[in-house]
Amino acid sequence: MKYAIVIPDGCADEPLDALGGRTPLQTARLPHMDRIAQLGVVGRANNVPDSLTPASDVATLSLFGYDPLAVYTGRAPLETAAMGIHLGPNDFAVRCNLVYVPDGHMRDFTAGHISSEEGAPLVKALQHELGGREMGGGVIEFHPGVQYRNILVWRGKAAASPLAGTKCQPPHDIPDRAVSDYLPQGPGRELLGQLMEASKPILADHPVNKRRVADGKKPATQVWLWGQGKAPTIEPFADQYGPRGAIISAVDLVRGVGVLLGWHRVDVPGATGYLDTDYAAKGRFGVEALGAFDLVCVHVEAPDEASHEGRADEKVKALERIDEHIVGPLLAALPRYGDWRVLVSPDHRTTLRTRAHAYGAVPFAVAGSGVAPQGQTAYDEPTAAASPLAFDPGHNLMRWFLGRG
Ligand SMILES: [Zn+2]
Repeated sequence: MKYAIVIPDGCADEPLDALGGRTPLQTARLPHMDRIAQLGVVGRANNVPDSLTPASDVATLSLFGYDPLAVYTGRAPLETAAMGIHLGPNDFAVRCNLVYVPDGHMRDFTAGHISSEEGAPLVKALQHELGGREMGGGVIEFHPGVQYRNILVWRGKAAASPLAGTKCQPPHDIPDRAVSDYLPQGPGRELLGQLMEASKPILADHPVNKRRVADGKKPATQVWLWGQGKAPTIEPFADQYGPRGAIISAVDLVRGVGVLLGWHRVDVPGATGYLDTDYAAKGRFGVEALGAFDLVCVHVEAPDEASHEGRADEKVKALERIDEHIVGPLLAALPRYGDWRVLVSPDHRTTLRTRAHAYGAVPFAVAGSGVAPQGQTAYDEPTAAASPLAFDPGHNLMRWFLGRG
């Protein structure tokens, strides 16, 4: 059996006036996703337990068949796994966004979608000035990641840490809000607050930022620290479920989850994690990976990014590109291998109305060998809401998708 999973990140949404009272999934022309709905079944899955924050870290673990309540320790340790950074038992990884806060408000959690090439020297400057310092009983390390998504590692000297029990705010969920209302809370407040403050003068004087300002781009005015956690313990997917997997994603977090599950990481040139990603290349590499692996997962961040920017037209366009360049080719290739199944599902909801992630079930569609059609015609939220097939908690969907119960 061959399995393909396509994740249009954050695609689940609400009806919008701007789209004539329809959702982006209803508005977009999605012949291949609709064909999956017609050949198979549309249902819904709740990937985010109430006690956790709706985001790709928690929701992707669920979607891949793991209970986040049992295995989730934080977002940053998942990303460090993708970056090949080892965490010891006392160490914490902390997400270190480069952000644009010119007036005390979170104007851009991506610092104008700063490139990796521009972000890396900024993070290196932070490491040069602050790295190696002992703070809160641990030693500080800054690591450049992808674009605005970088990592701070706190190497603990003992098991106790001020970062345990500290609450931090994801910056993508506070667009244009006053950051003073959302600073870290709890025992690590001082440590993280000091680092965020210390980043400001270092970044302000940096030539990369000066050039960005001169070019009319948003500079990275500071780091925003959040998503901290220790290294999680996760049973390999092949041991838990059987199939040997591969993952295609431009986002460190999602790749990191795949790597932690023991999936092979396929890097695609031109995959950016943004609206301009090379959809066709992702589709090609996905089809090719089917030859070598039992399960291939292709993740596309673009619908989520479009939602955060409040761009309904771009969200619709991203969905249509995913359908044409990724779902279509996979659907055409799968039957060549005999038995097959395909799953299309976002990890979580991201609504254009709030420009933020949201709780609640997401629609999925499954087709392939042994899946009987249910008379549904389209892959969208209303079809999923009316479906008798629902998984709550969502991590039970994977076992069903794989035909293992
Ligand atoms: Zn998002």
